[in-house]
Amino acid sequence: MKIINLISDMQTESLAARLANKTIGFVPTMGFLHEGHATLIEQARKENDMVVLSIFVNPLQFGPNEDFDAYPRDIARDEKIARELGVDYLFYPTIEEMYKEDRTTLITVEKRVDVLCGKKRPGHFDGVATVVMKLFQIVMPTQAYFGMKDAQQVAVIEGLISDYHLTVQLVRVNTIREEDGLAKSSRNVYLTPKEREEAPALQQALQLGEGRLEQGASIYETKEFVENHIKEHTGSEIDYVEIYSYPDLKVVKEPRDGESLIIAVAAKFSKARLIDNIVFSYTKGEN
Ligand code: AMP
Repeated sequence: MKIINLISDMQTESLAARLANKTIGFVPTMGFLHEGHATLIEQARKENDMVVLSIFVNPLQFGPNEDFDAYPRDIARDEKIARELGVDYLFYPTIEEMYKEDRTTLITVEKRVDVLCGKKRPGHFDGVATVVMKLFQIVMPTQAYFGMKDAQQVAVIEGLISDYHLTVQLVRVNTIREEDGLAKSSRNVYLTPKEREEAPALQQALQLGEGRLEQGASIYETKEFVENHIKEHTGSEIDYVEIYSYPDLKVVKEPRDGESLIIAVAAKFSKARLIDNIVFSYTKGEN
């Protein structure tokens, strides 16, 4: 595995691979790798000639009062994991390398961001879209792998790819979970033992919510049910529980059979804000 810090070096390698007609599978991350990331890397490994992993904690996507400084980092461990998973190139740039002082543009995301984390974290998805666009220009991937744990991010990047006629193909990867259902996340290390026991209730609530909705409960009733389940089973503070169409993230009054929907939750535990979601094709009477 080659570790690359400079944009120009990465572009040289990627260009050579593209000219040799090789496929490039790309997995962008913020590091502190866990099995969720590993699954993305493994899939990229299976489906491509060359695999690039990027590790970059992107300051642009963190708000002033968010956890940029406290975001967990362990590059030595990440390097070892990446090597074991068969990554060809680890792209690990500095902030100065990625953001030159004389920057003149910034991508603004106009749709799919007025809800969920986009509403709660103003500017977050502008930062995500900007860095992903930059990384795509640097790595030149044929396929890029994104986890559905961050379903709104997938929706935003799909929009970006379509708007800018990018040729990269986005591959949606299902959320990888602990045995008890908790979505794997770098932030799970900040849960207290008690919170760690409670946290699987988020996913349980979403699954039960899908069942209720398909049994005929209204959107409002379903949201209330999911919220109550989380309140009863965790000490977390609910940031939101919402139901929208997916990936458009539009309000749904009455779901239609076959419509793709998302039920999404964000909840604040003492030191970690966790998100989870369930995306499904609505089938009346199922569950
Ligand atoms: P992050 O390092 O948190 O920015 O995540 C990098 C990529 O890994 C994103 O596409 C995430 O959606 C994905 N990812 C993170 N956690 C999981 C998970 N539990 N299952 C699947 N993908 C994940």
